[in-house]
Amino acid sequence: MLRRLLLSASRSERMQGVATGTRFTRAIVDRFVAGEHVSDAVGVAADIVASGRVATIDRLGEAVTDSQQAAAARDAYLELLDALTANGLTEGCEVSLKLSSVGQLLADDGEETAFRHAMAICERAQEYGTTVTLDMEDHTTTDSTLSILERLRGHVPSVGVAVQAYLYRTESDCENLAVEGSRVRLCKGAYDESESVAYQSGKEIDLSFVRCLKTLMREESYPMVASHDPRILEIAQALAIHNDRPKGSYELQMLLGVRPEEQQRLADEGERVRVYIPYGEDWYEYMVRRMAEKPGNLGLFLKSMTSKK
Ligand SMILES: Cc1cc2nc3c(=O)[nH]c(=O)nc-3n(C[C@H](O)[C@H](O)[C@H](O)COP(=O)(O)OP(=O)(O)OC[C@H]3O[C@@H](n4cnc5c(N)ncnc54)[C@H](O)[C@@H]3O)c2cc1C
Repeated sequence: MLRRLLLSASRSERMQGVATGTRFTRAIVDRFVAGEHVSDAVGVAADIVASGRVATIDRLGEAVTDSQQAAAARDAYLELLDALTANGLTEGCEVSLKLSSVGQLLADDGEETAFRHAMAICERAQEYGTTVTLDMEDHTTTDSTLSILERLRGHVPSVGVAVQAYLYRTESDCENLAVEGSRVRLCKGAYDESESVAYQSGKEIDLSFVRCLKTLMREESYPMVASHDPRILEIAQALAIHNDRPKGSYELQMLLGVRPEEQQRLADEGERVRVYIPYGEDWYEYMVRRMAEKPGNLGLFLKSMTSKK
């Protein structure tokens, strides 16, 4: 119930105005978001890479409503990639992209606009020796995202995509995506989806996650296991051993600020651990989804909003 309320708040402009217009300490936002500027993201990524982990950087912002915002998001990603290469970080650092931030939902030709902007970003990433993973947003965008992915991969084969275990369709999507060289990030899913398209209970979602993971681990694809759930992580490691996959032929991914000690422990054990680093001014929707995942974060957030410091 609380999760559902929070996820609907993530789409509420009124709630956004209250949260972002209130004077509050940035402690909780700072835990999950690198900062507002490219230099903040690059600084955090440099620390992550120095610690033996790798990173993916996401520029916050989604569901843009005009073509100028979409072009500005593309340019911001190009600037980010320039900064990564200038700082020698392209080996350990890729970028994550929400297609709705580059125009996917625009009424006129949104899919084509998003494809063109994403292509410019993917080509720049490839030129610099790194790559792009497409985030997955709510289920109404899944077909469009997978179709754009296929077109992008025709030019830049390393482009990856996220899929969400809570959707009924994802087992079948994993079968289709599990081909050689295909980078697939499997996560539970962070949006408010109805039972017409998605499993609702944690147990069903976990079972679907494991079925999808079995497919990805068995085939020639490159699985990226995005979860903080200790049981899922253990199962991923066991499946890798079962399928004779050496460490580095798959990776574990976690969000900035979530279970950092566990991230480091796994990296020290030889696992490839990628940290998802968001940056930018538009942190509201991202933060509300994080609170829906862990209501304890909501308490911290509310406390920081009422703090005088
Ligand atoms: C690298 C990465 C990329 C992702 N990309 C996408 C995407 O493209 N599309 C999408 O829909 N979703 C994405 N997600 C979010 C994902 O779908 C889940 O909502 C989120 O990861 C929580 O699920 P979980 O697997 O960690 O398990 P859960 O069962 O939610 O959590 C397991 C345990 O992890 C810890 N934990 C989990 N989340 C938090 C948190 N926010 N704060 C503090 N502790 C926490 C808690 O201890 C919790 O008990 C991504 C997640 C990661 C890690």
